[in-house]
Amino acid sequence: MNKKLIITVDGPAGAGKSTVSKILSERLDYIYINTGAMYRVVALESKRRNVDPGDETGLAQICSGLDISFGRKDGNLRVFSHGEDVTEEINTPEMSLRASRVSAQRVVRNAMAELQRNMGRGGGVILEGRDAGTVIFPQAHVKFYLDAALEERGKRRYKEIAARNQKVELDQVIQETEKRDFDDSHRALAPLRMAEDAVLVDSSELTVEEVIAMMIQIIHTRYPSLLNN
Ligand code: C5P
Repeated sequence: MNKKLIITVDGPAGAGKSTVSKILSERLDYIYINTGAMYRVVALESKRRNVDPGDETGLAQICSGLDISFGRKDGNLRVFSHGEDVTEEINTPEMSLRASRVSAQRVVRNAMAELQRNMGRGGGVILEGRDAGTVIFPQAHVKFYLDAALEERGKRRYKEIAARNQKVELDQVIQETEKRDFDDSHRALAPLRMAEDAVLVDSSELTVEEVIAMMIQIIHTRYPSLLNN
């Protein structure tokens, strides 16, 4: 039987982590865990319940009653909070910034870490986020750090948002992406950084297929039996 690996994909906003993690999980028949979406659900719940992103007590209450799940509708990945499809609502520029704020709180990170470790423990998972390979699964079998130039990442985020018919300006998206990266990599808890044993993939000038091919090649070199069939 094939070994069920834990594969992590970390990196800054807009580097293409979600796109490649999703495709990679389909090719390997692995479960894809989008940890950013989990922080976004916390952000959404905090907004709905009027809890300030800095209010640890309020956030603790939200985290103790969370019910996050992932599913598919018409072949697309969807995110659910208490059974309600919140995919569109969590993927707005407002929720990006709010997720970044709530994710700096210890109570939120501890709750998410526990959930993520429970989901990924058995292997056969692609865990995508900011601290998947550094904090959540430092023992992961293969770690990737996906990066790209700021301008390129901003453009990708802009296209994603525009495709959802949300109105934004490219300059604003680039500025917000830069701010989010700065905050994410300068916070005290689980800051965004590349694990020492991670493989850096710069996707600035690569197509999605080229990035996937590179990742599969690396996995294949380390675990030849995994992709033989
Ligand atoms: O990946 P995504 O852009 O959806 O993440 C939203 C925010 O959630 C990030 O900017 C970051 O602040 C936070 N996050 C995190 N740790 C993760 C995943 C996301 O702090 N593992």
